[in-house]
Amino acid sequence: MRYIPANSTIGVFGSGQLGRMFAIEARKMGYRVHTFSPDADTPTGHISDVETTASYDDLDAVREFARSVDVVTFEFENVPAATVEAAAEFVPVHPKGEVLHTTQNRLREKTFLSANGFPVAPFRHIKTLDDLHRGVLEIGTPAVLKTAGFGYDGKGQRKIAAVGEVDEAFAGLDGRDAILECFIDFEKEVSVVVARGQDGSFAHYGVIENEHSNHILDVSFAPADVSEAVFAEAVEITRSIAEQFGYVGTMCVEFFLTSNGKILVNEIAPRPHNSGHLTFGPCVTSQFEQQVRAVCGLPLGSSEFLRPAAMANLLGDIWATGEPDWAKALATPGVSLHLYGKADPRPGRKMGHLTAVADSAAEAVGIVTQSRATLS
Ligand code: AMP
Repeated sequence: MRYIPANSTIGVFGSGQLGRMFAIEARKMGYRVHTFSPDADTPTGHISDVETTASYDDLDAVREFARSVDVVTFEFENVPAATVEAAAEFVPVHPKGEVLHTTQNRLREKTFLSANGFPVAPFRHIKTLDDLHRGVLEIGTPAVLKTAGFGYDGKGQRKIAAVGEVDEAFAGLDGRDAILECFIDFEKEVSVVVARGQDGSFAHYGVIENEHSNHILDVSFAPADVSEAVFAEAVEITRSIAEQFGYVGTMCVEFFLTSNGKILVNEIAPRPHNSGHLTFGPCVTSQFEQQVRAVCGLPLGSSEFLRPAAMANLLGDIWATGEPDWAKALATPGVSLHLYGKADPRPGRKMGHLTAVADSAAEAVGIVTQSRATLS
């Protein structure tokens, strides 16, 4: 257990909105923040004391960064292993490099999960066209072909509806390693956000229900509409994954729920998660504050929801005719606005989100989606 006192500096690899909200919480608690990423003038950089702009492969810059901070964490999991190792020569890194190595590659992640008995969709490793033909025969159609590395929000994945699509799908991989997964006709998608401290302490936010649009998270709400059995199983699987990793920090597991009550792990995010944005405000301790507490060796906080909550993402699309009229969205009591300070509102780009609290999750969803609808 390594206690990092207030006024120390927390280093963050990555500089997006997750790092921004982490930095807001870190500053609230008296810490300094130093962010490292290849970009300048970033969402995390705006809130940080120092913003280093350098390639993750520039190990001299990484070492200099690590020497200037007291502990390192991430907001982005695709940081190369060599970068993490270079930082770990100087300071504690949470979560540890092995966790990143496993979760930044779908094949390693799914192999880890199935080897440890966690439920996942049937999958095959695809290196050659033959592998893909065999895989489609064994798994059946529809199936989903996903590049092993650098995949999120549906990037690097395509559905294979029939055997006739195999050649074209393989060509689309451009020589990249991939996995083929059985397509799950899920009833709903849910996630569990948890935090684990250096002493093994554990906190969870229960089950959050997620609705996606074009593979990108659209709306989340908590508590999810699931049975007690599903709730208990999803939380226990997530706790057990965190335990298996010796995880320190905030982590999220995304699940598919099938209509016959089966629960399958889709993905592990070794960091705070988009679905957990609704903990920032509606909970006693947000997912970001939990990350600060965990990496600094402080006790975890209460993850209790003060009221049922919902979150709606704001993508760049709603900037099509200029800056949205935020006054309209905020006219409804209970709605909060979070903007990430991104200058370039491209379609599909996550620019911000709205949260709402209400007496029930369904009511919170109604409020937050109506509030968002006033913007376009
Ligand atoms: P991912 O990038 O793996 O998180 O996938 C993004 C989204 O694509 C998921 O949230 C699902 O909505 C969908 N998806 C991914 N894998 C599958 C699958 N095996 N079966 C059905 N839908 C999937």
